[in-house]
Amino acid sequence: MTKKSGSDNNILLIGGAGYIGSHMLRVLLENRVTPVVFDNLSSGLRHFIPQGVPFFKGDLKDLQDIRTVLKKYKITTVMHFASSIIVPESVADPVKYYENNVSSFVNLVKAMREAKVQKMIFSSTAAVYAEPKKVPIPEDAELVPSNPYGQTKLMCEQILRDTAAAHKDFSYVIFRYFNVAGAYDDGGIGESHEPETHLIPIVLETALGRRDVLKVFGDDYDTPDGTCVRDYIHVQDLAEAHYLALKAIDGKARNQIFNLGSQKGFSVKQVITAVRRVTGKDFPVKMFPRRPGDGPRLIASSQKAKKILGWVPKRGLDKMISSAWEWEKTQ
Ligand code: UDP
Repeated sequence: MTKKSGSDNNILLIGGAGYIGSHMLRVLLENRVTPVVFDNLSSGLRHFIPQGVPFFKGDLKDLQDIRTVLKKYKITTVMHFASSIIVPESVADPVKYYENNVSSFVNLVKAMREAKVQKMIFSSTAAVYAEPKKVPIPEDAELVPSNPYGQTKLMCEQILRDTAAAHKDFSYVIFRYFNVAGAYDDGGIGESHEPETHLIPIVLETALGRRDVLKVFGDDYDTPDGTCVRDYIHVQDLAEAHYLALKAIDGKARNQIFNLGSQKGFSVKQVITAVRRVTGKDFPVKMFPRRPGDGPRLIASSQKAKKILGWVPKRGLDKMISSAWEWEKTQ
């Protein structure tokens, strides 16, 4: 049995039925904290939320839904994991992204101010950074998002900064995610996007024969093997960073921004080799032209999260692949 979170800290987990949110939920429950999950189930799955966890089906686009849930559960801290995340879709349909990610966010912060909810932990992205001049990328690197998705996240960051500057009782922690992968150890939850656009689940689907061929988007980049290099981070490590932030938001983590990555880069070809090794499966791979919006290399500096939160990622690429593989096989 899990305990309810203390009445001094009632947490609203927005997007708790989604991939990352449901992993956050497991980490909270492991630490004997039961949040309230708020999700519109547009992409989240109801069965990702264990029995006994309070669930509110609501939409951030509806100010009244947010007002109701904040009041009903006397929320004190919001952890926000709900957004539209497909980069090419954000290029094709930017208004959807500004509405889902920014307008909704304005509703959320407005309702939080009305209800005197003072704390937010917010999921941002490495897509806020400009083409990096320095790798690994520190948090104070230049910010120039290369697509509307990154732009929406940067706008939300700005809203948090301005709100905290205007109201001294309001505080935030922002996390900029690099490439999140993997699944929780005991199974039951994992990455389940529709459509799937992320590399690791797509390679695994190909290894399972659900796709005919793995398309590699570009092998003419200025990287050691010509394919794009990314910094992969296990979803459970990522969720653990949020838990540390929850404990430090009134102290050293107050109004801070942290990268969440491993400081290590793997190319698309290296990921393919690792999947073949970990799964023991071979599959066809074919080179394709570059995908619009992809940069050659994104690697996080995670020194700040280590120094301030004491966070160090514990799970490497093989673990991300093996845990995602166990999940993928059950799908
Ligand atoms: N990628 C690929 N084939 C795929 C999916 C992705 O070659 O089917 C590449 C993509 O071009 C990028 C890297 O894998 O260089 C990581 O892409 P992903 O979508 O997982 O994350 P992103 O870095 O775009 O957030």
